[in-house]
Amino acid sequence: MRVVIAGGGFAGLQLAKRLKNQDGIEVLLIDHNNYHQFQPLFYQVATGGLDASNISFPLRKVFQGTRNIAIRLTEIKEIKTAENTIVTDIEDFTYDVLVIATGADTNFFNNANLQEKALPMKSTSEALRIRHHLIQNLEEALELKDKAAIERKLNVVIAGGGPTGVELSGAIAEMRNNILPKDYPEIDFSLMNIFLVEGSPRTLASMSAKSSEQSRRYLEKLGVKVMTEMHVKDYDGDDVLLQNGQTIPSKTVIWAAGIKGNVPKGIAPELVVRGNRIRVNRLNQVKGFANIYAIGDVAYMETPKYPTGHPQVANVAINQAKNLAVNLIRQVTGNKHYQHEFEYHDKGSLATVGKNLAVADIATPKIHLGGALAWFVWMVLHLLLILGVKNRLQIFINWVYKYFTSDQSLRLLFKEFYKHPENKA
Ligand SMILES: Cc1cc2nc3c(=O)[nH]c(=O)nc-3n(C[C@H](O)[C@H](O)[C@H](O)COP(=O)(O)OP(=O)(O)OC[C@H]3O[C@@H](n4cnc5c(N)ncnc54)[C@H](O)[C@@H]3O)c2cc1C
Repeated sequence: MRVVIAGGGFAGLQLAKRLKNQDGIEVLLIDHNNYHQFQPLFYQVATGGLDASNISFPLRKVFQGTRNIAIRLTEIKEIKTAENTIVTDIEDFTYDVLVIATGADTNFFNNANLQEKALPMKSTSEALRIRHHLIQNLEEALELKDKAAIERKLNVVIAGGGPTGVELSGAIAEMRNNILPKDYPEIDFSLMNIFLVEGSPRTLASMSAKSSEQSRRYLEKLGVKVMTEMHVKDYDGDDVLLQNGQTIPSKTVIWAAGIKGNVPKGIAPELVVRGNRIRVNRLNQVKGFANIYAIGDVAYMETPKYPTGHPQVANVAINQAKNLAVNLIRQVTGNKHYQHEFEYHDKGSLATVGKNLAVADIATPKIHLGGALAWFVWMVLHLLLILGVKNRLQIFINWVYKYFTSDQSLRLLFKEFYKHPENKA
């Protein structure tokens, strides 16, 4: 069975790992990056807390010494379902089984201004770009004399009060409170405001009411201006227009307010449903195809427990991959009639706001944790999930160092890289 896996994220990588050295299965893993990205820690790369290489792991290193996994670094362009072929930048590849695991990308909801001027954070390079942008603005603020111009340069607006927006605004606030006044003693940091703009009535709306209330309190303690029931309507690069007509002067808008599935060309529009996700059955099979599957963020599966689809989180992606691996192995070992339907067992959710400030909703037993304990649980879990022993050790050392010094030494500007027009994103 020749299995082509489109995308080496949480879902694709897990599937390839489960099919490793499996007799009767040959795997081709395709991704446009040669590394796996650990998205939950992007915000620490964006704020100079971690090095990009700590959270990005080379795919080839994962599969060293395996005999049935080939990797190609290329852009997936189209799927020709009638010909069982996937079209890429380098070659057309045929498959017996295709698994679409292309994840999701930022959704700017067709606002061209936001798309052009706001900063997304859906890849390691986008996280690095945010870091570059923040530091470059600080350097430029040193040369400004006008108070209003300095404020515009320093203000940061984050759209979206989900885990990404909350974690990022907390980390930027800690940077402003503890690090930047030491790096830039000439700047008056009372002029730097961090706004978190959320459309729903609460931050972390997908978590418990207690986590929402606590996360808001923690953010406000760090000095973040939290605006709920408010939308960012437009942005011209200088002023952010809110839905109530208010404007915020800012050179930095970070967009964490929506994602949409990365659906490859060739998938019929009637198979693409809410959130731009591909409708699949309980086996993750795309409707109408026995040999095409979609897993992870790009897949939309309705179950009695999740009638409007699963949350787009790493744990769903990983577990769909594990389930599919079992089913594919059964197909080659003569047990193809025993296909196992996917059921998600939610273990809970976590989000961190800052040092000793996190929230956790554990599913069974139903427990809510806050403060330093939740923060400790958050750190241990993320360390366990990171790929590679060396990365784990480096991140651990970084965090211990940061805990005691509230500082880090990763605020580097790689100007030449960002001058290149192709590296805008
Ligand atoms: C900032 C941030 C923080 C997050 N925090 C958490 C968290 O704390 N906990 C949690 O559970 N989840 C979190 N998530 C969500 C989690 O990262 C996703 O649910 C998970 O990555 C989904 O896995 P996936 O394999 O479906 O997609 P991805 O991991 O996104 O992988 C998709 C892969 O496909 C590749 N790809 C896409 N299109 C193409 C193409 N055309 N050609 C070639 N390759 C392509 C990409 O390079 C990528 O490697 C976070 C997400 C973000 C952005």
